[in-house]
Amino acid sequence: MNKERIKELTSEIENLWTSELDMQKLNDLRVMYLGKNGKITELSKGMKDVPNEEKKEYGVLLNELRKLFEDNYNLYNNKLLEKELNDKLSKEKIDVTLPSTKINVGSPNILEHIIEEVEEVFMSMGYDVVDGPEIEEDKYNFELLNIPKGHPARDAQDTFYIEGNEILLRSQTSAVQARVMLEHEGKEPIRMICPGRTYRRDEDDATHSHNFTQIEGLLVDKKDISLSDLKGTFDALAKKLFGEDCVTRFRPSYYQFTEPSVETDVSCFACKGKGCPLCKNTGWLTISGAGMVHPNVLKMCGYDPNVWKGFAFGFGAERCAMLKYGINDIRTFYNADLRVVGIFDRKEAK
Ligand SMILES: [Zn+2]
Repeated sequence: MNKERIKELTSEIENLWTSELDMQKLNDLRVMYLGKNGKITELSKGMKDVPNEEKKEYGVLLNELRKLFEDNYNLYNNKLLEKELNDKLSKEKIDVTLPSTKINVGSPNILEHIIEEVEEVFMSMGYDVVDGPEIEEDKYNFELLNIPKGHPARDAQDTFYIEGNEILLRSQTSAVQARVMLEHEGKEPIRMICPGRTYRRDEDDATHSHNFTQIEGLLVDKKDISLSDLKGTFDALAKKLFGEDCVTRFRPSYYQFTEPSVETDVSCFACKGKGCPLCKNTGWLTISGAGMVHPNVLKMCGYDPNVWKGFAFGFGAERCAMLKYGINDIRTFYNADLRVVGIFDRKEAK
């Protein structure tokens, strides 16, 4: 066995480690000593020629030699890796004084904004905000709202039917009112609004869309609920949406699910009631339909009309937004072209 060779390599290895080593040189050394034909590898290969009685001693010496190399190699390798990382970090240092990249921040769609405003008003008056299915049954969308099959009002609504005459895309959010009344089983008072999408087979043009947003509300209570409660409620909403100086009025109307029914107007905020193109010189803008819940509707939805009374109202979020923000085409709300919807980028929208 060649102890001399081991000794020689030991002192050779001890002198390899200098500050001039870089990754490349370090790697070369690893190949030179531990590679396939490396100096230490060669010695290991020679093990088979060592007489058995010397094998143990030879093995120990060889291991020490290998360990000497590996310990130094690892030490330097770690040092170099750390240096590499530090160099990289210092190069990538962020200069916080540099101007930032401009990122375009979106703002809520006006419809969303109007809905949130309305929700705020009603929640402050103790109303719940309720959601309902957009694919609805005929029962909830028409039948329970006092619009039986064959009723002419159904023609006027031009509904999207999905399956036969029973499953449809809801043509009004009133369907949710029927659902909520049935849920409460005629036992509890109700205060709710339900904003949501509704669908009618309208030809799309500047003022019609086959898809639009309704905000509908319902109050049912045992107390003596009257039209004046509805008026007060509508007044609070109008002032929040159109300003404190906004005045409201009711005009008689007709709906199947309310009796008496009214159309509700607000004084034109553009001309303060004097008359202008927006209000077609009437000084008034029609905002919603409303009325006292029809006794038939109360009865069908599980509420005894002799005990319970209520009012309901509904209006289009698009119409409100169009009036309030001077938008003259309803299709604008559903347009994904940033050049067009850029007008929604308003400061007051939080
Ligand atoms: Zn006006």
